[in-house]
Amino acid sequence: MRFTKSSLAALLVTTPLLAGPPTLVKAGRLLDVRTGVLLEQQGILIEEGKVKEVGPLASVSGRVPKDTTVIDLLARTVLPGLIDGHAHLLDAMNYRLRGWENLLTTVAGMSPGKRALLGASNAKETLLAGITTVRNVGHSGLNGDIALRDAVNDGWVPGPRIQASGRKLTPPGGQAMPNHSTFAGRIIDEEFRAIAGADDARRAVREALHEGADLIKVVLNDDPPRLSVEEVRAVVDEAHRGKIRVAAHAETQPAIQIGVEAGVDSIEHGDEATDAQLRAMKEKGIFLVATDLWHRAYPENVNRIFNFTPDEKAEGTKVIARYAAQAADRLKRARKLGVKIAAGSDNWFRVEGKTRGEATLVLVDALRDEGLSPIEVIRAMTCDAAELLGWSDRVGVLEPGRFADLIAVDGDPLRDVSELRRARFVMKGGEVVKAPW
Ligand SMILES: [Zn+2]
Repeated sequence: MRFTKSSLAALLVTTPLLAGPPTLVKAGRLLDVRTGVLLEQQGILIEEGKVKEVGPLASVSGRVPKDTTVIDLLARTVLPGLIDGHAHLLDAMNYRLRGWENLLTTVAGMSPGKRALLGASNAKETLLAGITTVRNVGHSGLNGDIALRDAVNDGWVPGPRIQASGRKLTPPGGQAMPNHSTFAGRIIDEEFRAIAGADDARRAVREALHEGADLIKVVLNDDPPRLSVEEVRAVVDEAHRGKIRVAAHAETQPAIQIGVEAGVDSIEHGDEATDAQLRAMKEKGIFLVATDLWHRAYPENVNRIFNFTPDEKAEGTKVIARYAAQAADRLKRARKLGVKIAAGSDNWFRVEGKTRGEATLVLVDALRDEGLSPIEVIRAMTCDAAELLGWSDRVGVLEPGRFADLIAVDGDPLRDVSELRRARFVMKGGEVVKAPW
C-alpha cells in the first residue's frame, strides 16, 4: 500500500487512536461517592481508557459491542481510584532522623539517578495499593517529580497520574533547615527555589511553569514568617495567570494567616488554624489538606526503632500525641464550619515491612479515628481531592468522560472504611494494574 497525504488522513479518521476493544466491568456493588449510596449490580462500560457508560448491569450489558472484554467483580465493591492530595514520591526518609537531618543526609547520600529510581519504585507501589492519582508537592530534587510524571505518562514506568509542583518556593535557606547551614547550599538550591521580593516571586512561578509544574508549592512556615503577604500574593497572582494553583505549607497561625490573606488555593497541614481562619478559608473556597498520617504512623514506627532510648521514645510519643490532638481538633472544627477537606498523606518515610502505598493508606485509619465518617474519608480521597487538583472532570468519580481509574474491595467501605487499605483490584485508564486472579 502506498500512503498519500489523503490516505493517511483517512486512516487517522477511521482508526481511533489507542482503540482496543471496549471493557465491561461488572460490579456487585458500586459506591457512588457523591451520594454515598451503594448501588447493586452495576455495569461500567469503558472505551479508550475512559468511562463511557455506567448503570444497572442488565441495561448496560445489553448494549455492549460483541468484542467487549468482561471483568467480573460481582463479588466485590467498586469505587473510584484513590487520590493522595499531598505526596512526596521522591523521598524515603528515616524515622531516626529529624526533618532537616533527613533532608541533608538522606538526600546527600543519593545520586540524582538513584533518587529518580526511588521515585519510580514509590510510584509503582503507590499505584498497586489503589492510589491512581497523586499531587506531588516538592522534595524531588531538581524537578524529579516532573520527570516522573512524564515517565508515567509516556508508559516508561507504572505509576499514578501525577500533578507535580517541581521545587518548593521558599524564603532564603529553604525549608526547615538549621540556621547558617551554608554548606548545604547545593542541596538547598536543588530542593528549593528561594524567592526574594515580589518580582522574584513572579519570576520563580514563571520558571516553574516553563519547567512543567502543574501547581506551585510555597512554604510559609518559618517562625516568624519570612515571606510577606505581598510576596505570596505575587506567587498566587502569577500562578493563577498561568492557570495553575498554589498549595501553601502552613502549620502555624501566622503562616496560615499569610496564606489565607494572599488567597492560596490550599492550606497544607493547617494544624493551628483558628476558627476565624477556617471561616475565611470557607469563604474563599480554600481547601484544608489534612495530612494527618504521621501523627498516627510516627509512634507506630518509632517504637520499632532500636537506637532511640526508652526516654526518647516516650518523649517523642508524648509530643506526637499533643500534635495529634491538635490536628483532630482543627479537623473537627473545619468540618463543622464547612471548609473543603482533602486528604493528603505527606508520606515521606520508608516504613519497614510496608510498600509505599500500604504505608500511605494508614491515613485512612488516621482520618477515621479523628472523627470523619467513612463517606467523608472516601470523599476526601476521591471526588473532593479531585476538586482540590482541579481535575473533577477527569478523576474522583466513575461517571461518563472520566478516566476509568477504579479499585475493588471485598467488603463494604461504608461500614469499615479500612477496606480502602485492601484494594484487591486496581485499574488505571482502563488497564488492569492488579487483579485477584
Ligand atoms: Zn509535605
